[in-house]
Amino acid sequence: MSESYNVIAIDGPAASGKSSVAKALARRLGFVYVNTGEMYRAVTWQVLESGVDPKDMDAVRACIAEMNIECGVAGQQSTVSVNGASPGDALVGEGVNASVSFIAKVPEVRQRLVDLQRAYADRCDAVMEGRDIGSIVFPDTPYKFYIDASEEVRAARRAKQGLKDSIGQRDKQDTTRRNSPLVIAEDAHVIDSSHLTVDGVTGEIIGRLKMKGFLSSDF
Ligand code: C5P
Repeated sequence: MSESYNVIAIDGPAASGKSSVAKALARRLGFVYVNTGEMYRAVTWQVLESGVDPKDMDAVRACIAEMNIECGVAGQQSTVSVNGASPGDALVGEGVNASVSFIAKVPEVRQRLVDLQRAYADRCDAVMEGRDIGSIVFPDTPYKFYIDASEEVRAARRAKQGLKDSIGQRDKQDTTRRNSPLVIAEDAHVIDSSHLTVDGVTGEIIGRLKMKGFLSSDF
């Protein structure tokens, strides 16, 4: 697979800080920030809106077959709409948090979304965050980062955001699913963000990109 634009892959578990870092990095580089978790969340929202049981894989399959999913870019950031609607704050609501990992297990859901994610590389340089970006979506990109943090730090971050999120449960499902589990890609650079600021992690990534010759030393 050869992408025409540059993709910087940022993977990691829930609340590891990868969204803040990916956003900050994209801003520094002038790249588009692509949030793939939002795509799985948007599909989940629509499944729930349709009254479908997220654990019923056949029903989810039938539901997604009818779904019109559109991904775009607005203000250097990815956008997603399902059947013409953008779910907004509902994307991070309790209902979606509790169900998204069930939906993300369904191979047909992943295939649809991976195709949409790969299409970004035909149109723009991107910093893309998720669970399988370095391992499955863009295995050929030389720029892969895996951001981790201790479970306590991650739980505290979610609590500070005032969001109800069973991150332990989601992590378990995301790491143990058969299809594209969360893994550290072999050639990924791992950063533990537990005791680092967003600037600290972003700085480490930029340092690594300089070492690889992707950025000039005076960037
Ligand atoms: O990144 P975020 O926590 O918003 O992702 C929500 C959920 O979407 C994850 O817990 C996971 O189940 C799924 N996901 C995925 N693959 C990705 C991004 C997200 O399976 N690339």
